[in-house]
Amino acid sequence: MNDYRELLERYAQVDENVPLAHMTTLRIGGNARYVAYPENFLSLEGLMRVIAENGIPYKMIGKGSNLLCADRPFEGVVIRLDRHFTDCYFDGEYVTAEAGASIIALAYEAMKNGLSGLEFASGIPGTVGGVIFMNAGAYKSSVADIVDSVSVYRDGKIEWLSPEECAFAYRTSIFQQHPEWIVLAARFRLAHEDQNAIRSLMDSRRERRMASQPLDFPSAGSVFRNPMDTPAWKLIEGIGYRGRQIGGAKVSEKHVNFIVNVGGATAADFATLADEIIEKVRETYGVDLHMEVEKFNWQ
Ligand SMILES: Cc1cc2nc3c(=O)[nH]c(=O)nc-3n(C[C@H](O)[C@H](O)[C@H](O)COP(=O)(O)OP(=O)(O)OC[C@H]3O[C@@H](n4cnc5c(N)ncnc54)[C@H](O)[C@@H]3O)c2cc1C
Repeated sequence: MNDYRELLERYAQVDENVPLAHMTTLRIGGNARYVAYPENFLSLEGLMRVIAENGIPYKMIGKGSNLLCADRPFEGVVIRLDRHFTDCYFDGEYVTAEAGASIIALAYEAMKNGLSGLEFASGIPGTVGGVIFMNAGAYKSSVADIVDSVSVYRDGKIEWLSPEECAFAYRTSIFQQHPEWIVLAARFRLAHEDQNAIRSLMDSRRERRMASQPLDFPSAGSVFRNPMDTPAWKLIEGIGYRGRQIGGAKVSEKHVNFIVNVGGATAADFATLADEIIEKVRETYGVDLHMEVEKFNWQ
């Protein structure tokens, strides 16, 4: 790959040769040639222009909490908004947050403002951009329930999309069909509620997560989407894979739809284990499991 550092640095803060393992919650992945942190919209716009003009591969990354990055290097630019696009402002029952803001931090800010609606997200370790992309959810709620509009940079223009235009459905949105679009911000509609009631709901959600999820090991959350009829964990349990380990990747004993990195796991370890699960579940139950975790930079 050509040396683009000087060019990229005209528009953003740039780091070079950074392991994706340092940018993902799974702690897996080879080096990214460049990581760019645009400081504001003008900087992002300039960055996207030089990327397009030079045909440089790029990837938006939020907190990397839903990514399984390949072991090989990524010869391109990872763009991160979680350093500078992190502001939010409250306006009545609405909150507008930039795409790099942590959704956990936002849930706490909402609680402090006596606004309910984000409690379900208070344990999801992603950014606003990432949760919109995934339509992240928990406890029968999802981002789609509270989105008022989403600001997107596409085809050289900034536009606000309605929830209908975002085409949200179970763990999906229109953004998955357009990985070249960049989510800049989202506006959420919340509801006034007693602050103590919100806090206690968040506390109970946190306790539930701590009791049911292996938060002491690196992971990317649930590996598989839940099929229509049976939750993925039941199928994985049914094939006897609780605790099954390949290299450093292990099906969690605590939550069998999590594959955790127990130390030195490679992307290949993780993918081999996930593929085995898919195969065995198909053989045993005739059900096709689909990954919720996204593979990035695989050939
Ligand atoms: C311990 C743990 C618990 C979890 N619990 C849940 C849960 O309860 N519910 C749930 O739904 N998920 C859960 N997850 C998964 C994960 O947190 C979510 O999928 C989250 O939405 C990912 O956000 P992120 O910012 O980390 O995105 P990343 O993983 O960095 O990226 C995910 C995708 O979003 C795209 N993207 C990110 N930002 C932008 C942007 N600004 N513009 C365009 N595209 C963008 C990326 O290119 C990528 O394709 C959990 C993960 C962990 C590790």
